[in-house]
Amino acid sequence: MKALVKSRAEQGLWLEDVPEPSVGINDVKIRVLKTGICGTDLHIYQWDAWASATVPVGLTIGHEFVGEIVEVGSNVADFEPGQVVSGRCRNCLAGRRHLCAHTAGVGVNRNGAFAEFIVLPMTNIWLHAPSVDLDVAAIFDPLGNAVHTALAFPCVGEDVLVTGAGPIGIMAAAVARKAGARRVVISDPNAYRRGLAEKVGVTLAVDPTATTLREVQRQLGMQEGFDVGLEMSGNPAAFREMLENMSHGAKIAMLGIPSKEMAIDWNRVIFNQLTLRGIYGREMYETWYKMTVLIESGLDISGVITHRLSWRDFEAGFEAMQSGESGKVILDWRG
Ligand SMILES: [Zn+2]
Repeated sequence: MKALVKSRAEQGLWLEDVPEPSVGINDVKIRVLKTGICGTDLHIYQWDAWASATVPVGLTIGHEFVGEIVEVGSNVADFEPGQVVSGRCRNCLAGRRHLCAHTAGVGVNRNGAFAEFIVLPMTNIWLHAPSVDLDVAAIFDPLGNAVHTALAFPCVGEDVLVTGAGPIGIMAAAVARKAGARRVVISDPNAYRRGLAEKVGVTLAVDPTATTLREVQRQLGMQEGFDVGLEMSGNPAAFREMLENMSHGAKIAMLGIPSKEMAIDWNRVIFNQLTLRGIYGREMYETWYKMTVLIESGLDISGVITHRLSWRDFEAGFEAMQSGESGKVILDWRG
């Protein structure tokens, strides 16, 4: 079968013929239909320090996918051929999380989804509702992170601040809106990404290098600060400015990973009675259920998908990712 393989210890990926994976008794074999390229994949493509220390040469990469089951192992009772599924791979990483030592698994140190077929243990399979669009299904893994973060605290009637407009930040903003937020402000220095965020319906997309959040509050007629913060950037300056612009008793969910220790003004956390909550991974079935229901009730995150390409054009997809002028890039593996 065809697969995108990290076959040399240098920048790039190579399209190769590799053996089809075999199916163990607890495994599910899936024909890959569509895949999403993740920031994690880009680090592997670029072969940075994290990738070269973590990823074995010869690996098929990729972890965001949707596919159709073609075969199940003899112990597998809950799945059958023909079902449309994704993997739950936990490798969609916000901010600088590629530096996280815990990153492991599909497409990082075991063979991944950028291939015609993938085999996964049945415990790592997500069955899709029939109504879910295939492009959206391909990015269920990062959407899961966005949903888990955005719903960490109630958003109904609240003013929500999202720092970092990568695809996960933008999807989290859309979820907060859908979950009843009054205003959703997102900040990112990248103009292209702010444009994408505007497409999913944020109140305001702010360039933090040009406008302070204090000024944004004035523009929006806000007096007391944001009620809920979603920190998706891992950027210390962004986090500090968030802390300065939260209301008393505000709650902050943190998904972005800083590259190293970061100092904050703890007096502000204490005197303003802020709640900070770290988010890692997600509550699998609960999050899956919420994602499905949100989509069925009209959550539209398709605006975050900016490129739809054939797997043969994977180089163009990685170029778009490297340019910074992209949201999610989808590769179609059919035909
Ligand atoms: Zn991912």
